[in-house]
Amino acid sequence: MKNKESVLEGQHIFKYQDERFADLQLLRYRVDGFETLSLRQKILVWHLAEAALWGRDILWDQNGRYNLRIRHLLEGVYTEYKGDRRCEEFLQFETYLKRVWFSNGIHHHYATDKFQPGFTQQYLLKLIGECGMEVPEQDLLDVIFCPALYPKRVNQAKGEDLLLTSACNYYAEGVTQAEAEAFYEEQKKQFAESNGHIEGGKVKDRTAEKPLMFGMNSQLKRDAEGRLMEDVWKAQGMYGSAICHIIEHLRKAIPYAESEKQAEVIRTLVEFYETGSLDTFDLYTILWVQDTECEVDFTNGFTEVYGDPLGLKASWEGYVNFLDREATQRTERMSREAQWFEDNSPVDKRFKKTECRGVTAKVIKAAILGGDLYPSSAIGINLPNSNWVRETYGSKSVTIGNLTHAYDEAARGNGFREEFVIDEATCQLIDKYGNVCDDLHTDLHECLGHGSGRILPGVDPDALKAYGSTIEEARADLFALYFLANKKMVELNLTPNDEAYKASYYTYLMNGLLTQLVRIEPGNNIEEAHMRNRSLIAHWVLKHYPDAVALRTIEKEPEHAGMSAEGLEADKGGKKAEKHYLEVKDYELLRKAFGELLAEIQRIKSEGDYKAAMELVEKYGVKVDNDIHQEILKRYRALDLAPYKGFINPRYEVKRDAEGNIVDVTPHYDETYAQQMLRYSREYSCEGLK
Ligand code: ZN
Repeated sequence: MKNKESVLEGQHIFKYQDERFADLQLLRYRVDGFETLSLRQKILVWHLAEAALWGRDILWDQNGRYNLRIRHLLEGVYTEYKGDRRCEEFLQFETYLKRVWFSNGIHHHYATDKFQPGFTQQYLLKLIGECGMEVPEQDLLDVIFCPALYPKRVNQAKGEDLLLTSACNYYAEGVTQAEAEAFYEEQKKQFAESNGHIEGGKVKDRTAEKPLMFGMNSQLKRDAEGRLMEDVWKAQGMYGSAICHIIEHLRKAIPYAESEKQAEVIRTLVEFYETGSLDTFDLYTILWVQDTECEVDFTNGFTEVYGDPLGLKASWEGYVNFLDREATQRTERMSREAQWFEDNSPVDKRFKKTECRGVTAKVIKAAILGGDLYPSSAIGINLPNSNWVRETYGSKSVTIGNLTHAYDEAARGNGFREEFVIDEATCQLIDKYGNVCDDLHTDLHECLGHGSGRILPGVDPDALKAYGSTIEEARADLFALYFLANKKMVELNLTPNDEAYKASYYTYLMNGLLTQLVRIEPGNNIEEAHMRNRSLIAHWVLKHYPDAVALRTIEKEPEHAGMSAEGLEADKGGKKAEKHYLEVKDYELLRKAFGELLAEIQRIKSEGDYKAAMELVEKYGVKVDNDIHQEILKRYRALDLAPYKGFINPRYEVKRDAEGNIVDVTPHYDETYAQQMLRYSREYSCEGLK
């Protein structure tokens, strides 16, 4: 085994890297510092963590209407089967289940393509028979084995009906894109008529400038007469069985809240789960974003809209965190200067905020990951997502320090840099400054980037539609890239010197042009918003600033030693030995390029210029050069690394006294991936979930 990175944990060896299968690598993260929390804080964390784990099945159902039934079937076989568990077919079955667990469903968590099992239907039926289990209905088997059925969870391909071609369960089967769009246009119109009005797609009234998050917490379906209606996710509605458990633990957390303000946040969230009212949801997010004093914080609910091709319906996620005091001083230094950054950004004055408000930035440690943050997690989070709430009350921004630390530890010396970075000097630059600059890039992206700029009055915040997420991520990334190279970073003691930023510039573009392609299947386009954004920025710069960056092919001596006969044959083509590398010729000019693109992207966002957004994204963000793609995949395969990573949660042990009061909570790192998944399915399962 390669790269076994470990540190001493008491008597035990702590391994950041855990299981590896398919394109996935499981990591573990540590919750160091948990032991220094007060008992009250520990109990608070624990109840909130329970609330975060209880939402798991909601996400599974949101990701596809067959997911829970399939999981139940596969787990039954996995735990019951007493026959040969070492043969190739069973190992394939096991890998399939592990992939399904990882994705919270039968589609790839990132690419959203359906997995093809490496075993046959006959084999599964044989296992089921030998376990004495009931034979499932054929429709369920078809969903697993028939490639043409539900091939994609989120389809973003232009020109197709995005709902009819997406397997996600946010819209009942048969609801078309045109119907759904008309339904929510009508909701917006009615809202405007009762509170203000919309003219030519633009909100004219101040009240109407504070739109609700229409559609975010419901499934759109048909009633008995065939009319469209929303099935709202709430205690007495859809997903009620899970939501009631979430509410129970939120209620139990309230007495341990760190302040009255935080208690009010939790009470309001409970009220939202009980009523499903979007007004209450806005109120909850407003209270939540203003509660910045507490050390323990959490997210729990319907949050991100990446899983809905129309970008309206929010997937369920939950996590709990506590403050990393030391690292937070870093981001505070930055966010204190929010106004300076806004004033000095290269965007047009009309699109700037005159007053930057409430940009809070913390480095935190995750204590538990749940729902759409588990096992694959973000490392930086900026919420809430409602535009007017952000503009009026600011947003909370976090970098999850213990997750980035686990990534860093696991990536050390795995050969990736040596393969893809152009020369030794650049490698050394990245070794030296890569980590500190990447953390900083995340901070800038989350704390300042997403919070910067303003939408012109009257512009519909959803004007960019399917391109909105990509443009928004590009905006935050460009903001971070542009300022990373500013003298201010050295003045604030955030970067050690005025060339450290080059490490991030290089790796960012290398990723956008080359290495992120390892996450794409041959022949596919780029779909995910963050990836599209990175591709957009990198290819735009490559096209418009040839004096700053170039793609160079360097012929490398074929490494014949140890190569198989076929390998030698394939290498003879001459072209095969050529490798593409990013060359940065002029870092200062590159910074200018980032500034120019930032100004344009901000204009597109501020004016709601849908056409320009579409052109930029489609031209630079979506397509993949097939030859380069093949080459990158080949080079990457030779390194034998997993392109996707996710985390195993710690397990919390609760100690109680004779009266049943909690006297301590301790994290353990002793569960395997399969043990944890099976335990979650046992302990946090809502049969059928309705
Ligand atoms: Zn972002």
